Amino acid sequence: MSTRAGILVTGTEVLSGIISDRNGPWLSARLRERGIDLAHLIVVGDRSQDMLAALEFLGREDVDVIVTSGGLGPTADDLTAEIVARFCGREPVLDEQLERRIAEIIAPMRKRWPQLDDEAIRSSNRKQAVVPEGATVLAPVGTAPGLVVPPAEGRDGPTVVVLPGPPRELQPMWDAAVQTEAFRAATTATTVYRQGIMRLFGIPESEIAATLRALASEGVPLSGLEITTCLRRGEIEIATRYEPDAEELYRGFLAAVSARHRDTLFSVDATTIDDLVAKQLSDGSTVATAESCTGGLLAARLTERPGASAYVLGGLVVYDDDAKVRLAGVDPAVIAAHGAVSTEVAVALADGARMRLDAALGVGITGVAGPDGGTAAKPVGRVCLSVSGPGEMRLTRSVDLPGDRLAVRDRSVTVAMHMLHRVLLGEHDGPRIAPGGERSVPAR
Ligand code: ATP
Ligand code: MG
Repeated sequence: MSTRAGILVTGTEVLSGIISDRNGPWLSARLRERGIDLAHLIVVGDRSQDMLAALEFLGREDVDVIVTSGGLGPTADDLTAEIVARFCGREPVLDEQLERRIAEIIAPMRKRWPQLDDEAIRSSNRKQAVVPEGATVLAPVGTAPGLVVPPAEGRDGPTVVVLPGPPRELQPMWDAAVQTEAFRAATTATTVYRQGIMRLFGIPESEIAATLRALASEGVPLSGLEITTCLRRGEIEIATRYEPDAEELYRGFLAAVSARHRDTLFSVDATTIDDLVAKQLSDGSTVATAESCTGGLLAARLTERPGASAYVLGGLVVYDDDAKVRLAGVDPAVIAAHGAVSTEVAVALADGARMRLDAALGVGITGVAGPDGGTAAKPVGRVCLSVSGPGEMRLTRSVDLPGDRLAVRDRSVTVAMHMLHRVLLGEHDGPRIAPGGERSVPAR
C-alpha cells in the first residue's frame, strides 16, 4: 500500500498569478522520490475559510500527509499555523523557547532599523511562536518556524507538514521535516518506487506513442511499469515509475526503446543535454557563439553552470546585419545573396565567432522568431544554425520550429545544444557543406 499525500499552496499572490508557484512542483518531485503518491495539489488565497475548506477536502480524500506552503510570517494575513491547529484539533499555545529563538534571529534586523516600534515587533515575534500543542517544531531558516502536526490524540486524519512560502526557506525545512518522528510515523506504509528517465530529441511525441503500442503488441511486458511521456523544451522525456521487483521489466523496456530510437535517445540516466555538453566541453574544448534571433540566449544557457569559464570563451549578439558584418566578420555579399536568415549566414556566423574569439568550436544562429517578418520562403520559426570546428568540420541545419516568439527562441537554443553535443561526439556534415546539402531535422 502506498502513502497518499496532498499539497496545499497558500498565498493570494500565487492564486492570482502575480508569482508562479515554485513550491508545489518542487514538493511534488520530493514526494515522488519518496514513493509517496500525490493525489491533489491545491492553491488557495490567504483566506482562513478557504484554507480550512481545502484541508477538510483533503481529509475526506483520505490522504495520510498534507504539506502546506506559505502563510507563516508575522503579519495578520499569515494564518496557516492557526488554521492547521484547528484542523488537527490541537490548541494553539505559546512556545516560549521558540519565542526567544525568533527574538535572537530578528535582533540584527532591529539594529538595522532602529526606528521600528518595539511593541509591534514583540507581538509579531510572539505570533510566530504560537504553535499547535504537541506539534514538532522545525527550526526556522528565515524567521518562521515550520511544523509537523499529527491529528490530536484519539482523532483520525492526516499529519500536516507546515512550511514557509519562500522557496529558499521551504526547501531546507522540508529536509528537516522528513527526518522527524511524526513524519515517519505518518508515512510508514510507503512502498519505495524506482524511477527511470529516458530523454530523446528530434522525434515527435507521437512516435513514442507508436513505439509503446508496437512493444505491447510484440508482447514486451509493460504492466508493472507506470510510463508517462512529456514534451519539454522540445525534448521528449519518458519517465517510468516501478516497484523494485520490476527492475528486470524496466531493463527490457529500456533496451527496446534504445533499439528503436538509437539516433534520438540521448540520455538514459536523467542527465540533461546541458549536463552532457558541459561534460564534453570541459574535456578540453572551447566554444564561442554568434547569435542573431536568440540574442545571446545560447551564451546565457552555456554559462548557466559554474565552471563554464573553462570552456565558454564568449558570445557575439549580432542582431543587425551591420553587426553581423562588423562583429562577426560576415561577408556582406553573403547576406545580400542569401538573406540574413540562411544556412550560408549561419555558417559565416559560426566561423566568425570561432575566428574572432579563437575558439575550438563556433556556433551561429539566425532565424525568424516572429511574430512578424515571416515570408512564404522563410516563415516564422525558420531558424538556421551551424556549428563549426577545426579542419572545416561543420554541422549545419535549417529547422522550422513551432510556437510563439518565446518558444522559437528557446527551442533554437535547444537545437544548438544538441548540435554541439553531436559535433563533440564526432558527427558532422563533412569538411564543407555539399551543394544544397544541409539536412533538415524535424522541428521537435
Ligand atoms: P514570510 O515570513 O516571508 O511572510 P510566509 O511563510 O508567510 O513567509 P508567504 O507570506 O506566503 O510566506 O510568502 C512570502 C513570499 O515567499 C512570497 O511573497 C513569495 O515571494 C514567496 N513565495 C511564497 N509562496 C511561494 C510559492 N508557492 N512559490 C514561489 N514563491 C513563493
Ligand atoms: Mg507571509
